Parts: sequence; C-alpha cells; structure tokens
Amino acid sequence: MEIQETLLLKLGEVVLKGLNRRAFEDRLLSNVSRRLRRCGSFQTHIRQSTIYVEPLSPDCDMNAAFAAAQQVFGVVRVARAMPCERVPEAIAQAAAKYLGGEFAKARTFKVETKRADKQYPMNSIQVSQAVGGLLAEAFPEVRAEMRNPDLTVYVEIREKAAYVHTPSVRGAGGLPVGTGGRALSLLSGGLDSPVASWMIARRGVELEAIHFVSPPYTSPQAQEKVMQLAKLLTASCGRLKVHVAPFTRIQEEIRKNCPEAYFTLIMRRFMMRIAEATAKKSGAAALVTGESLGQVASQTMKALAVTESVVSVPVLRPLIGMDKVDIIHTAQRIGTYETSILPYEDCCTVFTPRHPATRPELRDVEAAEAALDVETLCAEALAGAEWQWVKP
Ligand code: ATP
Ligand code: MG
Repeated sequence: MEIQETLLLKLGEVVLKGLNRRAFEDRLLSNVSRRLRRCGSFQTHIRQSTIYVEPLSPDCDMNAAFAAAQQVFGVVRVARAMPCERVPEAIAQAAAKYLGGEFAKARTFKVETKRADKQYPMNSIQVSQAVGGLLAEAFPEVRAEMRNPDLTVYVEIREKAAYVHTPSVRGAGGLPVGTGGRALSLLSGGLDSPVASWMIARRGVELEAIHFVSPPYTSPQAQEKVMQLAKLLTASCGRLKVHVAPFTRIQEEIRKNCPEAYFTLIMRRFMMRIAEATAKKSGAAALVTGESLGQVASQTMKALAVTESVVSVPVLRPLIGMDKVDIIHTAQRIGTYETSILPYEDCCTVFTPRHPATRPELRDVEAAEAALDVETLCAEALAGAEWQWVKP
C-alpha cells in the first residue's frame, strides 16, 4: 500500500512509571485503539515513548482521528506526520510533497531534527542542514532562517523510518483511564461537576456517574442535558455508566420536616449516602464532586465537613482550590461549557433556602435530620435508581 500519513502520539507521565510502565502502556494503547475505532481501521504500536497510529485503508478519517487522539488521557502531544525512507533526499522529497502548501505560504523556514535512533550515521544538525539545503533548492522563493521562521519542518529519525511533520499540538495529558481504579462522580447539569469528572479521569481513574432527579420539579430536559454532558465526557473518559436516582421524595420530606437553613446541607448528605452505597455496589473506591471552597454556602469548610461526615469513602474534590474563571476555562477546553450553561433547573436550585447556614455545626444538622427516616428514604431512592451506558 502507498505510504500514508501517520499520527505520532507522545506519551507523558506514563514514561515515568518504572516497573509498571508496561501495564500503563498496554492500557493506553488499547484506549487509543478503542477511541479511534469510529474514525476507520488503524494499526497502532508503541516504540520509544511514542504511539504510532497508521491507517490501514485510504478511507480512514485522519482529521477525526487527529482530534480524537488529542482527547485520550496519557497522550501529551499529537502530530500528523509523513513517514519516509531515512535518507536526506527522501526526507526532503516527502517534506516538499507533504508540506508543499505550507511552503507556498511561508517566506522563511527551518528544519529541526530529532534523532531517536542514535545509531544513525548523521547527527541531528547534519540531517537538518542536508534536508534544509535540498528544500531551499526546491523552494527558491523561501529563505532558510534559524530565528522565528514562518515554517518549521520537523524531522524525526526513528528506527524503521524517518517522519516529517509540522508542530505537534497539545494532548489531554494525565494517565490512561483504567490504571487508577474506579470512582463514582456526582454529576449535575452545572459547570463544575463535568470539569471535576474530567480531572479525576485524567488521573487514570475509570468513572461511573450518578445523577439525582426530582420530577416534576426537574424536567426531562434537565436529565437529558446531564446525559449530553456524560456523552461529551466519553471522548476522554471512555464509555460511562450513568446512574439516575429519584430524589423527589427526599427533598419533599426535608422541606416538610427540617429548618430551611439546612435544606441544601441535608440534601447533600443524602446524595453522599446514596452515592456511597451505589459506589460500593460498583466497586468504586471514591466519590467525586464539583465542590470548590467557598463557592456557595454549602461549600464552606464547615459545610463540607458536615456533608462528608456521612460517608467513609474518600470524597475527591479536584476543583477545591480553583476559581470560577479557571473552571470556566477548563470547561471550554474540554467542550462541556456550552451544554452546562443551558438553562435547565437542577434539583438543588428548586429547593434553595433563602438564608442557608454557612457555618453549620454537625450536631445541629444531625438533630434537624433526626426528624427523617434516613435509612428508608435512602433505601427507596436506591431501589428506584436506574442506570444506562453512555457511549462515545
Ligand atoms: P455544579 O456546577 O457541578 O452543579 P454547583 O456549584 O452548582 O456544582 P452544588 O449544586 O452545590 O454546586 O453541588 C455541588 C456538587 O454536588 C456538584 O458539583 C455535584 O458534584 C453534586 N451535585 C449537585 N447536584 C447534583 C445532582 N442533581 N445530581 C448529582 N450530583 C449533584
Ligand atoms: Mg449544581
């Protein structure tokens, strides 16, 4: 088959993994293959901290594959590259053909060479000079310029071939999903929890999600929005099992029997209990929330302590020290922002107290909660919960 454009995926932290490295690489390779499956049929292999993604047929969608690869955790940079023989003439020829359009737009260029194969008879500078000389002949109107050229031609000399490419782009970074255990993320329709989910998945954690609904106070569209957010997350997290738990009864009971100042706190304590029970059934070892210190009354230090005191699993809060602007930027980067700001009500917003307690004492909240049959309410919600797969 004719030589075809290839993707080069550079691995990040995976390479620091010492003895576990092999397991991390295997997982990353299978995640990449799975994520690229819908872009066509590819062959993937790993060598020297780089994954090579080679199309097996001409109808592979390289644009889609390039975009998909950037979202896979464990990959720090992605380049589209053209393989060629490892001699300067072939390299220059490949560059001229592959990057002809770029040369047409540029006034200055340089060649930058990396030699992964140290046995190669020329050093990097010699390769750059030889290839640069040939390209200067091929494009007489474009001048070689070492400082700030319009176009940089990257050449990599690897064991089996040389590769020519333009600058690589940033990948999602982190660790391959599946290498860091499993956690259950409390996913609302807001801005924060999708970002929190993404950040924890980026540390190699396989996620499940749980969403609480309060019909008729919350609409089917609000739930649909959460499913949409989950779907957006699958591009980096892989398929997600999303649990949907009924929360109406609990909220009505709280409203009827507890002081208004504690509505949100008691509600969050129920969410934690139900999430913990769901996590245990799923083999998830932690919960994930989108809480950020001081963002709202229920996210002060005291409030967080009251919330988490009902569970024994760790509660991961990756946004704890982030400002709202940082969170918004991340949401934009990962593509959840536009969906998150759609205006559907969440079960929290429906029963928001006018004057929430910001410095609650645990014993007061416990006393207020004693008016409820906590165990039965949780058991009912768990019994009424349903789940579905959300796939990329
Ligand atoms: P978000 O933007 O993620 O909705 P928020 O700032 O609005 O967060 P809260 O509504 O107080 O904060 O919720 C705090 C966290 O509790 C959320 O980040 C999420 O993890 C969880 N949570 C809130 N509502 C729900 C829900 N309906 N279903 C599942 N989890 C929820
Ligand atoms: Mg919310």
